[in-house]
Amino acid sequence: MTTTHTGAPAPADTAPGADALTIGRRIRHVRTARGMTLEDLGAAVGRAPSQISMLENGHREAKVSLLQQVAAALAVPVAALIVDEPPSARAALEIALVRAQRGPLFSSLDIPAVAVGRSLPTDALQALLRLGEELQRLLTERAATPEEARRANAELRSTMRAQDNYFPELEAHARRLLAAVGHPGGPLSQRGSAEIAAHLGFTLHHVADLPHSTRSVTDLEHRRVYLPHHASTDPRSPLLQALASYVLEHREPRDYGDFLRQRVEANYLAAALLLPEDGAVAMLSEAKAARRLSVEDLRDAFAVTYETAAHRFTNLATRHLDIPVHFMKVHESGTLHKAYENDGVAFPSDPLGAIEGQPVCRRWTARTVFAIPDRISPYSQYTDTPSGTFWCTSRVQSGPDGEFSVSVGVPFAQVRWFQGRETRERATSRCPDPTCCRRPPDHLAERWAGRAWPAARPHASTLAALPAGVFPGVDQTEVLTFLERHAPA
Ligand SMILES: [Zn+2]
Repeated sequence: MTTTHTGAPAPADTAPGADALTIGRRIRHVRTARGMTLEDLGAAVGRAPSQISMLENGHREAKVSLLQQVAAALAVPVAALIVDEPPSARAALEIALVRAQRGPLFSSLDIPAVAVGRSLPTDALQALLRLGEELQRLLTERAATPEEARRANAELRSTMRAQDNYFPELEAHARRLLAAVGHPGGPLSQRGSAEIAAHLGFTLHHVADLPHSTRSVTDLEHRRVYLPHHASTDPRSPLLQALASYVLEHREPRDYGDFLRQRVEANYLAAALLLPEDGAVAMLSEAKAARRLSVEDLRDAFAVTYETAAHRFTNLATRHLDIPVHFMKVHESGTLHKAYENDGVAFPSDPLGAIEGQPVCRRWTARTVFAIPDRISPYSQYTDTPSGTFWCTSRVQSGPDGEFSVSVGVPFAQVRWFQGRETRERATSRCPDPTCCRRPPDHLAERWAGRAWPAARPHASTLAALPAGVFPGVDQTEVLTFLERHAPA
């Protein structure tokens, strides 16, 4: 089957099927094989050599009548010329480079065209083509990735919202795994998590040279899980997340959305193992009845990080306690890294609806908590916003990328179930009204107009430096050489 590369149907009086450039190169191929010059062929068909050259370079669509004359002069059937296939590997390269040079990339970059003829060495031809392809790939990636990431994040957030952040099939996986190792309920010990690994047929290997871009690496062939020697955080989490990906049969992600979904699922299943549904719900229900719900208590009862407890609380709160909630993770710079809500709180968003990387109102608990010197006592605050009054509790944690606040909040009507409702901290937020906190006060703006020039510090914003690759952010070469190095002989 033949198609035209331009996508436009060929006019009736020109050659059907193949495009002009390919036909031209087939003509040139046969002509040079016959030892004919442009002049020879031009004379044979009654045309100027320059017209034959235009024909061979695809600058002119050949009319059927001319093609018949050319075919006759070259002693080949017309059909041999209008095949939509380059006559040789070299011609294929030439056609590709000519097309690339005539395409939007080269012209937008204002790169001078190279004459694609016999004098151009094949290796130079190949190098130019590869450069063009690679440049196209990099530019496409740069243009598409933040947009793709925004879309994928928004889709995932809406799925989570629709399910009140509760995933029954993941809870069922957790229940089954815990039952398989005879977990008695309550917190999962380190031994308990190792037993789950053994139940699934995996051995654990703590190594000093785990690739920097990974939390764990799993050798599926030899059923080994490699973990960092010096775990700064809870050693159960990376292990359970690795096992979760295995149990959920995650494959190499098809795209960024797939990668995000897998990460959310693995985190969810790990948390559902660390804070088993039955035990956590029993504890939370009791606390709700006594009107002293607390994320800190959940954290302490199950010996997990505040962030894990806060996350798990959002899984269970709406489904089991009938409480709508929101969750936020905010960098000390004020930008939103992660968020979830089904309680109507209005997160800051860009005009396209993306929230990651957006600045959070300075009056919100997630921001004000950074100024609180006491980092042990829970901090809570009521905030009046254009979408209602919310009560939030927040905590600051330090990580390699700086400090983050992790916050859980509920609408005013739900605060009666929580410890910390007696707080006198209160704020008013008028965001997204720019006069709330985004625009500087008039007197300062006037005082410094034209006299201030700050240089922005690049920081690891969620989207600005979105890494590419099969597993975004993972150095695949490092991972594979690591596996080679550690694989049993
Ligand atoms: Zn504000």
